[in-house]
Order: sequence, then structure tokens, then C-alpha cells
Amino acid sequence: MAAQALADAAVRAGHHAQAFPYFGAERRGAPVQAFARIDSRKIRVKSQVYEPDLVVVLDASLFELEPVTEGLKEGGRLAVNTPLRPEELEIGEGTEAVTATADATAIALQTLKVPIVNTAMLGVLCRVQDLVPIETVMEAVQERFGEKLGAIAGRANASSAWKAYDGAVVGVASGKRRIARAKEWRPAWHEMPAGTSLPSATIDGVEVGPGSARTNLTGEWRWSTPFYKKDRCIRCLRCWWSCPDAAIDRLDDDYMRWNFDYCKGCGICADICPVSAIDMIKGVHRW
Ligand code: SF4
Ligand code: SF4
Repeated sequence: MAAQALADAAVRAGHHAQAFPYFGAERRGAPVQAFARIDSRKIRVKSQVYEPDLVVVLDASLFELEPVTEGLKEGGRLAVNTPLRPEELEIGEGTEAVTATADATAIALQTLKVPIVNTAMLGVLCRVQDLVPIETVMEAVQERFGEKLGAIAGRANASSAWKAYDGAVVGVASGKRRIARAKEWRPAWHEMPAGTSLPSATIDGVEVGPGSARTNLTGEWRWSTPFYKKDRCIRCLRCWWSCPDAAIDRLDDDYMRWNFDYCKGCGICADICPVSAIDMIKGVHRW
């Protein structure tokens, strides 16, 4: 929705624009992409953007997982959600870019009461591009989010964009270290075991099948943490088999243990527990 609000704002500012998201088979908290094109001429290209002028990174931990600056044009710019200054970021070997940073998660929590950073990041983006002014972005955000979520949410999201714009730091980020993309592996039909379930395996150094989420340290994305009240647990195992990141270990006695390297705080385990033995506590904790 933020990419669409940006496209709306670009049209208001007299440009042509398009915006569209790209989702895989993700669940809440997994990496997703959205693209926007802005031009003074009519836009006829419909593909994804492979050589962007500007990349907006909603979670700085993605720099460790994906070469997010891949394809960034010479002179391209970055907007990153991080409390770090641009000079403190590692953005991948051979890359240097004028970058705006802001702690969009903290701003979103303050203004929206939820860690949804997309509109704050539109504010950060406005610090490193001059096609669309922040005032026009705020109008578009207020209208689009207001239509969908109500006037109060529209205003709160516009305020989130402004606060991030106002507080963003602009500098130059660079990279010294190569960031390798995890190699994708898909089984051919004859590699699929009967019943189409996949065993855990390491192929070409890449974890595949159940447990492959091991390579994604999704614990970095957490903003709330499950707290396990063992004395209430009836060992029904529902949390264990419902966790999308296999972040809950089943112990020999059928009690549970959480692995906070991978728990991304989605809250599914707490929702599904029939006896309220799991509380979601705000913040990043390791008990
Ligand atoms: S342990 Fe619970 S909160 Fe953490 S990822 Fe799994 S289901 Fe989500
Ligand atoms: S869902 Fe609740 S009761 Fe069931 S095993 Fe998990 S914590 Fe225990």
C-alpha cells in the first residue's frame, strides 16, 4: 500500500507512475518486495524493477540475507530502516550510495502503536529523492490509508511519514563484505519422496525442506516475544506444529523450548494455545 501511495503522490506531483507488490509463498514476517516506477513519460514497462534508482529497505537485517543493493544504478540511493547512521551500515561489497536512515520501527510504534514501517519509510525516502515532495506524499498517504483504514489511521500514517522525514540522517553508506544470496533449490519430480513431503537436507551447502528456514535468522525481525508459562502448558503440541519458523523445540517430556534465533514474534503460537500458556510480550527478549 505504501508503494501505491508513493505512486499516487507522484501522479499528484505531475508524473506518470505505477506500483505493484511481489509476494512469494510468504507468511507474516517473511521478506517481500514492492516496486514503483515514476517517469515524466507514459510508462509501458510492466516487469519488476531490476536496476533501481532507489532502494527502500524496511529491515536492515536483510543486508545479511539478501544482496538488496544488487542492480542499484551508479549514483543510486538508499533509504534504510535502522537506528544506525549511513556510515555505520554494511551494504555489500563494491557498493556505495547516498543513504538516508531513520529508526522507522520506533517511529511507527510511537505513532501507529504497531511496528508497521512502510509509511515512515516513505518519509525517509523523501530525504533522498526530489521527484515527489514530502507534503504530497503525506497527502497521498492520508487519503489512501484513510480510505482503507479510517481517517484517524490516515492521519497517523501521514504523521509517521513526516516524523521519519524530519528525523532521518543522510550520509554515504558503503560495503566491504560480499553478501551471498542463499542458492535456491527446487526438487525435480523424481527427487520428491512419496507423499510429496521433503526431508531436511543440505544440498550444495544450502538447507532445503523442513528446517530450511534455519538460514533466515528471523529472530532479528521480532518486535514482540512469546513468554512460555510452563506451569499452564498441557503439552498439546499445537504451538510446536503451528510455528511457521520451527522456532519451538519439543523436549523429551513434551514441554516446549523457544529458539529465539528464529522466533520472529508472529504470535501464532500464542493465538493457538488453548490454555493461554503463551503471552506475547512487547520488545525483543530472550528468556
Ligand atoms: S515461536 Fe510463536 S511467535 Fe515465534 S515464530 Fe513461532 S509461532 Fe511465531
Ligand atoms: S499450545 Fe499451549 S498448551 Fe499446547 S503445548 Fe503449546 S504452550 Fe503447551
